[in-house]
Amino acid sequence: MRSRWERPLSRIPRLARKVSAVDEALEANAGYARAFSHAALAPAPSKRLAVITCMDARIDVLAMLGLREGEAHVIRNAGGVITDDEIRSLAISQHLLGTREIMLIQHTDCGMLKITDEELAERLEGSAGVRPDWHAHAIDALDEDVPRQLSKIAASPFIPHTDNLRGFVYAVETGLLREVASTPGG
Ligand code: ZN
Repeated sequence: MRSRWERPLSRIPRLARKVSAVDEALEANAGYARAFSHAALAPAPSKRLAVITCMDARIDVLAMLGLREGEAHVIRNAGGVITDDEIRSLAISQHLLGTREIMLIQHTDCGMLKITDEELAERLEGSAGVRPDWHAHAIDALDEDVPRQLSKIAASPFIPHTDNLRGFVYAVETGLLREVASTPGG
């Protein structure tokens, strides 16, 4: 039996497509491209900065840090946590694209504060019939988790530049960053 994910696009009801956020995004992109002025930007971030943060929709990373296109790498996931894939991205960022400073930013009211790894695994198992072979990386307390994530970066042999490794909590209520940890000397 075909899963619903294999259903051809043409069989999705027209009404569902009519309200698509992707279609709205494509329309916005056409306007964006008409006024596009970043064709000359180099791929290496000019501020030599990599930012790791949560995928939360309320966080406008460039705006809240006063950054512009071309200045920093932004690596996002649920929670702003360090897994093998963030190590992969940071290794590429430092080794191939020259970044030297790292900011890790978690935030208040994060969804990952509201669930445990076990709860998510159970929920997914209930829906999919199998448990995920990965962890949710739920967060207990921001002030404890930020330093824990920084230490994962500092401990990685693949991230050579950790003398400017700093961790923050962003308050979605005020827009302010609060520094909670740094790892001088890696
Ligand atoms: Zn979050």
